[in-house]
Amino acid sequence: MGRIVSIGECMGELSETGTPGTLNMGFAGDTLNTAYYLRRSLGPDWQVDYVTAIGTDGLSQRMLDFLKAEDIGTHHIAQLADKTIGLYYITLKDGERSFTYWRSDSAAKKLASDPAALARALDGADLAYWSGITLAILSNQDRLALIEALSQFAGRGGTVVFDPNLRPRLWDNPESMRGWIHRAAAVSDLCLPSFEDEATWFDDADPEATIKRYLAEGARRVVVKNGAGYVTFAGSNGEISTSAIPPVEQVVDTTAAGDSFNAGYLAAELAGASVADAITAGARLAANVIGARGALVPDAVRPS
Ligand code: ADP
Repeated sequence: MGRIVSIGECMGELSETGTPGTLNMGFAGDTLNTAYYLRRSLGPDWQVDYVTAIGTDGLSQRMLDFLKAEDIGTHHIAQLADKTIGLYYITLKDGERSFTYWRSDSAAKKLASDPAALARALDGADLAYWSGITLAILSNQDRLALIEALSQFAGRGGTVVFDPNLRPRLWDNPESMRGWIHRAAAVSDLCLPSFEDEATWFDDADPEATIKRYLAEGARRVVVKNGAGYVTFAGSNGEISTSAIPPVEQVVDTTAAGDSFNAGYLAAELAGASVADAITAGARLAANVIGARGALVPDAVRPS
């Protein structure tokens, strides 16, 4: 029996249906998306827990009900009486999606405010998954608390996996984002960045430069996604290799491509796959996710 803890913000998702006056309501968020696909990829001998903070209101309860229905563990979700969950609204115009967010006062910003609760959530887990978005939404004090908790978890033999998921709009300024992302990488065994973001915000000339930078900051392993391009990784001997991803039939909506890739990759590695095979598994799952609309695609995990 193994246990995975995914830490971050899940939001309510409102999307237009095409019928005036009606909306779809769902739940999504980068670390939740990965937890969802991990839950669906892994067998019953794995427990997948989500760690966040929500409110005590009806909408927060809906999110809890959703997570429970998906068999995602909710025991370590804090419920704060004076807060509620963040929301986003998707506008569809000529097939293009645009997003409006209400998340500046969301309960999830307090997810690391109780270090004892954080330690309890991580206690006995095998793998902790988090992202640059998890870190972005916190106060400086809570960023340090979360980094410390994960560092202690790693010290006890836990595996820390980090997706930088660079979102400059969530940070005070790009310089602050770069500094914190590197502190996060330093306590992470595995970093799963996406090259396009890294090139934009760190000026990396190629995926190899991204790998070298994160290794220099203290990450032990780095796998760099790159849209439809090759995935680049450093092997245990430090040698940098690339892996072609299987062709994708149709790209409908790239939402959660990276999040689902990470889940497919991790599930394969936890089952004993090599890095190259785990990359193929991640890319297969991502291909199924981007072949349909929305972040959470129920039938994306298919037997290989
Ligand atoms: P993110 O969604 O985090 O920006 P990427 O765009 O790099 O991440 O995509 C993550 C993974 O999703 C890729 O490694 C690939 O497997 C798959 N993917 C994304 N876009 C495409 C595409 N246009 N064609 C094929 N696969 C894609």
